[in-house]
Amino acid sequence: MKKDAVFIFSEEQLGYSFSDSHPFNQKRILLTLDLLKKSGAIQDSDIIAPRMATDEELLLAHDKKFIEIVKKAGKGELTEDVGSIYGIGTDDTPIFPNMHEASAMLVGGTLTAVDEVMQGRSKYALNLGGGLHHGFHGRASGFCVYNDSSVAIKYLQKKYGARVLYIDTDAHHGDGVQWSFYDDPTVCTLSIHETGRYLFPGTGSITERGNGSGYGTSFNFPIDAFTEDESFLSVYKTAIKEVTEFFKPDVILTQNGADAHYFDPLTHLYGTMDIYKEIPRVAREIAEQYCEGRWIAVGGGGYDIWRVVPRAWAHIWLAMKNIPTPTGPLPEDWLSTWQEQSPVTLIPTWEDPVPLYEPIPRKDEINEKNAQMLSRALHMIRNEKIDK
Ligand SMILES: [Zn+2]
Repeated sequence: MKKDAVFIFSEEQLGYSFSDSHPFNQKRILLTLDLLKKSGAIQDSDIIAPRMATDEELLLAHDKKFIEIVKKAGKGELTEDVGSIYGIGTDDTPIFPNMHEASAMLVGGTLTAVDEVMQGRSKYALNLGGGLHHGFHGRASGFCVYNDSSVAIKYLQKKYGARVLYIDTDAHHGDGVQWSFYDDPTVCTLSIHETGRYLFPGTGSITERGNGSGYGTSFNFPIDAFTEDESFLSVYKTAIKEVTEFFKPDVILTQNGADAHYFDPLTHLYGTMDIYKEIPRVAREIAEQYCEGRWIAVGGGGYDIWRVVPRAWAHIWLAMKNIPTPTGPLPEDWLSTWQEQSPVTLIPTWEDPVPLYEPIPRKDEINEKNAQMLSRALHMIRNEKIDK
């Protein structure tokens, strides 16, 4: 019988670990899974172990030389000056043991998710270990070695002949995936993110629309620092609906970075848990309306691993299972288990406390700027439709 959703996980995903002090920490997957288990929302039979991506699969989106360099790095055979040419051994993306195997396991998880959905065993599939959207063809960047989404999209094209819409709601621009398909009219990339004016990686302006025959299938919605829920959701909902209607995909792949939250230490957006409740429910609606339900979701950024990520990512699974949005206290045994380890006081409820922060004096100005950006970006789509 076809399942609603599968959750891709094994302890091996936790091997993607730069150091104990690095902000990218896969313990957040464990925290999320444990929250779902203790909420009674997931069973062992919902969980599928990932496989490791083969070199041949990695080559779909990566350079051979780069893969060799990552292998060498993980064995401790790479000098720092050579590594830095490939973005490895930097402050952002330090070398760690078995770097190749751990990175290939995250890619394999997303490929496992793809096969579950495309072979009809499950409608939706979630790989929280994936979402490494800054990985480039021949270079690591921004905590990302191999780009699981880029490999998975190439795999979806090659194995299933699918037309893919990639939707990225991480607070950072989904640059690696965008550049992988910049020339390709059969893949559409959509990224909503904090403007690159003050934030890594600096790209993602509305004028980045694609190149050559791929022109018109790259979409960017950069929002202002300090953007709050209402404006974030207005941009997201309008953009996703309009772009999906324009592109008419066979399948959607969503990247669910959870770093647009007020508590996130690396970005300047002012989202609350309300955006994370909504994002996956809208994605599911879109998948049902346009793709006969085919939806693959991956993780991404998210650096408040205690107070934000577990609740935010739990909402993706809850949306996939069509479980009504929970309210009120989190399971007592989840809170007591993890509070001991957490350096901050955990939020005890599914909702954030209200108010979460002092009012932003520039709120109206920020909302107006975002609305104008959205209208300019959508104006381009509408004009191009008329041109065709
Ligand atoms: Zn991010």
